[in-house]
Amino acid sequence: MNLFDLVIRNGTVATAADVMHCDVGIQDEKIVALGTNLAGDTEIDATGKLILPGGVDAHCHIDEPMSGNVVMADDFYTGTLAAACGGTTTVIPFARQFKGQSLKAAVEDAHQRAQGKVVIDYAFHPIISDPTPEVLELELPALIQAGYTSFKIYMTYDDLKLNDYQLLSVLAIARQEGALTMVHAENTDCIRWMVVQLEAAGNLAPRYHATSRPMVVEREATHRAISLSEFIDVPILIVHVSGREAVEQIQWAQNRGLRLYAETCPQYLFLTEDDLGHGFEGAKCVCSPPPRDKANQQVIWDGLCNGVFQVFSSDHAPFRYHDPHGKQIGGTNASFRFIPNGVPGIETRLSLLFSEGVGKGRISINQFVALTATNPAKLYGLYPRKGTITIGSDADLVIWNPARSATITNVMLHHNVDYTPYEGMVLQGYPEMTISRGEVIWKQGFVAERGRGQFLPCSLSSLAHPKSFSTL
Ligand code: MN
Ligand code: MN
Repeated sequence: MNLFDLVIRNGTVATAADVMHCDVGIQDEKIVALGTNLAGDTEIDATGKLILPGGVDAHCHIDEPMSGNVVMADDFYTGTLAAACGGTTTVIPFARQFKGQSLKAAVEDAHQRAQGKVVIDYAFHPIISDPTPEVLELELPALIQAGYTSFKIYMTYDDLKLNDYQLLSVLAIARQEGALTMVHAENTDCIRWMVVQLEAAGNLAPRYHATSRPMVVEREATHRAISLSEFIDVPILIVHVSGREAVEQIQWAQNRGLRLYAETCPQYLFLTEDDLGHGFEGAKCVCSPPPRDKANQQVIWDGLCNGVFQVFSSDHAPFRYHDPHGKQIGGTNASFRFIPNGVPGIETRLSLLFSEGVGKGRISINQFVALTATNPAKLYGLYPRKGTITIGSDADLVIWNPARSATITNVMLHHNVDYTPYEGMVLQGYPEMTISRGEVIWKQGFVAERGRGQFLPCSLSSLAHPKSFSTL
């Protein structure tokens, strides 16, 4: 009989495709056997537990340099520790280019920030805010070939936005190189116009952030992004989709046979614009696009069930509330325009979707795994090393206790933010142990070593560009 480094016994293994009652044998950081009566130097009993692929959070913001004096609360230690404690074993945060900066320098800066701190494996999506000829013709192709095979572009935010000509220029490089482009779709001039009207009328409170970016603003930009991708003939992925009108555009494109992918996030399932409405404290839930209403939440659930969305990410954007470099950068009487955009959620992503999705019968356990691990790994070129449980994959696993009830409070979380938007929510099902490359990196009272995470150069997307499917 083989004796493995580690065997996880008697659990229920779930992947995007299957559910199996079996043991998992791990050797040299990889899954090498699925079977019965396996024996190991170390054994973990998972009776009554699910064994899932560790989560892949493909949209999270960690220690990004910001404009002005805004500072992100999480560095690569607290951000990835929080991820690990929530059952996530791979993150793909961003390397943000400032206008005027070289893209290569932005990527080097992100690596320096991660160095020595990150506890789980990671890749980067560059953010392209300044597509100069040098960036387009030299830096971007070189970065794609070096394993940065996806990147994000913005249609809004003064310090990041691209005009349509610039969007087309970037999409053309993505097509040429086989890369995948993530698009933040909101119409920047509509927002700017609305902000001017609201401020002139003295409507400055956080809730007017939602008023300034209604659904039509997202719908128009979503349609435009789809049209530009069709024009260039290259797949794109629309990130953080918030409600019905954008979903309709995406379905329209998918039904026409375009390779159009879409992501949504917990804030569009569990928050509404009313959460921006309690005085300045509403700043805690200011993010873009803003949360909508109950009817739109249902549309987002439907999109997770019926396949409009391939990816469920946190869009973790950590800004402290009681902090002059965080949500209160402009003080509590300043216009909503100054509030840093984003909500924390890297640790609660999986438990929220498991409890309210799988637990309430809205999605299957296989859909849960696909949305939170397998599909992002495929889309961003990390599959099958990450995102599944199969022979040869990295032993990145979460042992999940479906019977454990958990009340979400900020004190139980490991991020460096002073609030969670989900305070007080009672969830059924919670991670019990997280394993990264065969090493237990989190269980009650024990956490991972700083700096153990490895950088992952990504292959070309195996979903967006099927011919590029890679082997282990
Ligand atoms: Mn965004
Ligand atoms: Mn984001």
